[in-house]
Amino acid sequence: METQTISTGINVSPIVSMLNYNGRYGEYGGAYIPEILAKPLERVSHEFDQLAKDKSFNNEYIHYLKQFVGRPSPLYLAQRLSAYVGSTIYLKREDLNHTGSHKINNTIGQVLVAKRLGAKEIIAETGAGQHGVATATAAALMGIPCKVFMGAKDVERQTLNVRRMKLLGAEVITTEMGTATLKDAVDAALGYYIEHPTSYYLLGSQVGPHPYPKMVGYFQSVIGQEARAQIIAQEGRLPQAIFACIGGGSNAIGLFSGFLNDMEVGIYGAEGGGLAIPSNTAATLSFGKPTIFQGTYSYCLVDANGNPTESHSVAAGLDYPGISPQHAYLKDTKRANYLPITDPEAIDAYKILSELEGIIPAIESSHAIALAAKTLKNKNMLAIVNLSGRGDKDVDRDI
Ligand SMILES: *Cc1c(COP(=O)(O)O)cnc(C)c1O
Repeated sequence: METQTISTGINVSPIVSMLNYNGRYGEYGGAYIPEILAKPLERVSHEFDQLAKDKSFNNEYIHYLKQFVGRPSPLYLAQRLSAYVGSTIYLKREDLNHTGSHKINNTIGQVLVAKRLGAKEIIAETGAGQHGVATATAAALMGIPCKVFMGAKDVERQTLNVRRMKLLGAEVITTEMGTATLKDAVDAALGYYIEHPTSYYLLGSQVGPHPYPKMVGYFQSVIGQEARAQIIAQEGRLPQAIFACIGGGSNAIGLFSGFLNDMEVGIYGAEGGGLAIPSNTAATLSFGKPTIFQGTYSYCLVDANGNPTESHSVAAGLDYPGISPQHAYLKDTKRANYLPITDPEAIDAYKILSELEGIIPAIESSHAIALAAKTLKNKNMLAIVNLSGRGDKDVDRDI
């Protein structure tokens, strides 16, 4: 078997038994992991496949989505934004979820999976702290101990989220390795997981090895299912275009999955463009190349030697050099369009939505607003934009 090196510096081999249809989106996806994680991840994969078909599991999940998260989230007609753009724009209000974004849909689902697997603790890594808070929240809800790994630099920059996690009973483990940011937190969490394979590793986006992209896609699909039923109830027809921002790709696949078979619906993903030049961007699908990164084969931002590089975006949630293998497939097959939105364009949209609608969007979600405003200008089209999160976390910064 061919040996591959992933960013953790651990030598790994593709786990051939896991490279089945379910683990691949076209040629993308799969599981490029150290041998020692093959068994635990196969167990997660097998258990998830059973649970996804299990009525009682799905009912329990839906119960928490309704009673704890506050779903369904409204599909809100943004009248003043619509008039400003010259198209009819609905916002899918994931910002109104408990804890303020779509991330909670996934963390509750995966903590329920962990519980059924009998896991004794949940581990997760976080950059800006949003996924850490969503994980700590779900772990507190289910009464499972939780460890969140975080780079020392991020701990310093994100004091509010660190306090939230601690208040929720999570243990925040600081790593001083490397640049002491997200990538190093991933390495630290992976290292811990390898030593404690009875814990459950909770990934926060549609990335990483099989079965995570499939599982995260499943738990976020509630967004698209609701949105499709809501637009038909409210407008009597399907939208002509839908928009979401893309970090790892989880909120986007959540919305997109509800409309993939509706070929008349145009699908648009807004990447964190940074300055939209190769040396300063997080627009993986626009500027990256297919490569193996953090357990999966997908597009990635790479240097001249083909090694993964750092990304740059004003939005912490979009600041990731990798991307979901499913989005890589949707790009190549041209079912979806992916375009970079620059930092200044996103900041403009952040201010415009706040002033026009009384809704302060997350700076991540502002990328989707900006792409929609550009694409739909005076087109008189019907569209949905996923408002993945609220912007309270961004107000403190000088943008
Ligand atoms: C984390 C985050 C994102 C990016 O993650 P995806 O997996 O691409 O959805 C987008 N918006 C908000 C509000 C986030 O917190």
